[in-house]
Amino acid sequence: MPRKIAAGNWKMHGDGASLAEIDALLDAQPAPGVDIVICPPATLIHRMASHIGARPIAVGGQSCHAAAKGAHTGDIAASMLVEAGATHVILGHSERRADHGESDAMIRAQVETALAAGLNVILCVGETEAQYKAGITQDIVSDQLAQALPQTDMPARITIAYEPVWAIGTGLVPQDHEIAAVHATIRAISLRAFGTAGAEVAILYGGSVKPENAAAIFAIANVDGALVGGASLSAAAFSPIIAALANA
Ligand code: PEP
Repeated sequence: MPRKIAAGNWKMHGDGASLAEIDALLDAQPAPGVDIVICPPATLIHRMASHIGARPIAVGGQSCHAAAKGAHTGDIAASMLVEAGATHVILGHSERRADHGESDAMIRAQVETALAAGLNVILCVGETEAQYKAGITQDIVSDQLAQALPQTDMPARITIAYEPVWAIGTGLVPQDHEIAAVHATIRAISLRAFGTAGAEVAILYGGSVKPENAAAIFAIANVDGALVGGASLSAAAFSPIIAALANA
């Protein structure tokens, strides 16, 4: 069975005061069997990792450059994330694809660099609203993975997040059978790429996961957790989602 993962993407939100949410999250309830990962802005990674110490929440970055180092103003290297205390990194998020023109080829190179640096990768894929309406979701997701998922002998450090672009931050969520169909396709791709180890790759759903819909989403086959944006910013909203995953 894959690990259950509840990952929070804080995007460009959060400051020093937000560290209190981490304490509240840890106080909320034990989450047996759930790996919790918070991906704050880069400026908070070191502070958050130090604040957490040995407690059971991992810290991740939201992106890294494909190069190990170099003249790339404003970018961050995978090894810098590691030095700051990150163990994970989100790559291929639709906001990076849209805002920074990241292609699948670039994302694949980032994944390879991140794995080489020792990071666990959360690789995001998902269709736009137009692609969803055109009925080509499966083709888009398959193509993104064909191009962005590298050959690697480290599949245990790869997690794939299915995030329909139109579901992010909108309150809209695909129907259960639609999520099930995409996750089944991702599982098949993972098995083809990694053999039996592909069964252990966690596949997360992301897009408007809330306390109200989390249990139903986690009941869908091949949903091993969630990548959560808005609802991960407060312990009050994120901890019931984590609890739903622990109980799934
Ligand atoms: C995300 O940005 O990865 C995300 C899933 O956001 P939200 O939960 O706010 O839809």
